[in-house]
Amino acid sequence: MVGSVERKVIPVVAAPVILPGATLGVMGGGQLGAMFAMAAKRMGYRVEAFSDSADCPAAQHCDRVHVGAYDDAAALVAMARGLDVLTFEFENVSAEPLRALAGVVPVRPAPEVLFTTQDRGREKAFLVREGFACAPHRMVRSQKELHAAVAALGLPAVVKTAAFGYDGKGQQKLDAGAGPQEIDAAWIALGGGEEKCELPDGDEKCELVLEGWIDFDCEISVVAARGLDGSTAVFAPTRNHHSHHILDISSVPAGLPAAVLDSARKMAAAVLEKLDVVGVACVEFFVTRDGRVLVNEIAPRPHNSGHLTIAACETSQFEQQVRAICGLPLGSPRQLAPAAMANLLGDCWKNGEPDWAAALAVPGVSLMLYGKGEPRPGRKMGHLTVLADSVDEAIANVTRARSLACRSSDRSG
Ligand code: AMP
Repeated sequence: MVGSVERKVIPVVAAPVILPGATLGVMGGGQLGAMFAMAAKRMGYRVEAFSDSADCPAAQHCDRVHVGAYDDAAALVAMARGLDVLTFEFENVSAEPLRALAGVVPVRPAPEVLFTTQDRGREKAFLVREGFACAPHRMVRSQKELHAAVAALGLPAVVKTAAFGYDGKGQQKLDAGAGPQEIDAAWIALGGGEEKCELPDGDEKCELVLEGWIDFDCEISVVAARGLDGSTAVFAPTRNHHSHHILDISSVPAGLPAAVLDSARKMAAAVLEKLDVVGVACVEFFVTRDGRVLVNEIAPRPHNSGHLTIAACETSQFEQQVRAICGLPLGSPRQLAPAAMANLLGDCWKNGEPDWAAALAVPGVSLMLYGKGEPRPGRKMGHLTVLADSVDEAIANVTRARSLACRSSDRSG
């Protein structure tokens, strides 16, 4: 199966290797922090998380949780003094307090990577500047600019808030027939110009981005790691299916022409290089019907679409994150078998406690639960992964396992 490591030794950083026994810090205590902690603990590291809640998923796997506000620079410095390296598991944390840690502890990826990718405006500017293909777009700061952008790009299109959007939150589609009223309504719905949209790193008013609608063939993503020495390890592209804007199923192989996959992998590696990422990042793409690969967005951390690497690859995305931020050699991203992952949202609990025994009877399945208390609809509670002889079989079996677990009526897979 595919997955590649490129050893490109660039002697730019002579930082010491951080060996097992050292203490790794992670900003955020969600499931990505929990799975990072599991990988790091297995390798003999101490792990400390910084979270706004003591009762976070990572708490179950960390040696210590520091509870505080993410913008509390003093609390962060206090934690950082006891760490050997700090990383993050989500990007909705202001880069400013992380910059204050310079000289206290290495932050990997660097706060500048977070700064660029946490705002769609800065991220798009980076993509355009570096020549990465992405959807046609315009940044808008006023209602007038939004109307002008619609006139320039045409409809259908999608309006998104520049900052702090995820899982389809903070975005609204403008259909082909949308008129001035709908455009104004989208501006207001997304809080255009409101004070509450002020960005944490400046005094800019809420900015929106208008993106031309891409009539894509499919969505794929590529998780990749980049080490301190500049070497990269790129996982095979996953094909992603969303439901209600939330990732539903990811599968590998993605079943696309080799040229398309190759171009996605090269673009992902180049994005990490141009951003100077040390760590793991995920690049999400639209694949157009004529085979073009457009960057949708970049997450400078492990990604939901990479969870299948835990069961399916020689090195998981979380172990890769540990290796990369510690200056260790990256592991092989080779995939052992075709695989599919299905998210378990809180909705799965609506018919009572899920039937885990039934789900676990499906061949090739593994279960990961994040240890979250309340199964609210739309909340990511865990995931199932299935390995099989073919990707179609993996998708069918993971769908069936999830239907059995969630006692839903459609068990066809
Ligand atoms: P995002 O938060 O930007 O990743 O968007 C969430 C989902 O909305 C994507 O995974 C796509 O399914 C859809 N989407 C976002 N932007 C576009 C676009 N320009 N054209 C078509 N679909 C889009």
